[in-house]
Amino acid sequence: MHCPFCGADDTKVIDSRLVAEGDSVRRRRECITCGERFTTFETAELVMPYVVKRDGTREPFNEEKLRRGLLRALEKRPVGAEQVESAIAHIKHRLRTTGEREVPAKQVGEEVMAELKSVDAVAYVRFASVYRDFQDISEFQEEIRRLTTDAPTGQ
Ligand SMILES: [Zn+2]
Repeated sequence: MHCPFCGADDTKVIDSRLVAEGDSVRRRRECITCGERFTTFETAELVMPYVVKRDGTREPFNEEKLRRGLLRALEKRPVGAEQVESAIAHIKHRLRTTGEREVPAKQVGEEVMAELKSVDAVAYVRFASVYRDFQDISEFQEEIRRLTTDAPTGQ
């Protein structure tokens, strides 16, 4: 952080507190070179990346669409609304922390599969069958076989 008075690089933080319900940080800084004090506000940027579809078009990340996809895969499965919401939160968190401005739709699909895998195996296979566009029953069997071998013991 440059000093706005003399332009020096070295400034030190002398006080730091959360403002606006913790969304931003107010910092009191002092310039080591000229001794002037000034205040900065820092807000964490938590934007969702754009999603780039297979045809190359981009669209804003759509949480509703994600929720519908999950709910479709989880239809009639013993999974509560809370688990669905927490799965959505995990997926959003991971996409956000990529730090990318845009991510391929494929990556979103992979995140959904990773999440479903730990939530409900049936939903996972359902989603994977549509998403990976399974061509025949052997691909299903292959996926299920992999699921069974991957499963941690004691579950
Ligand atoms: Zn200065």
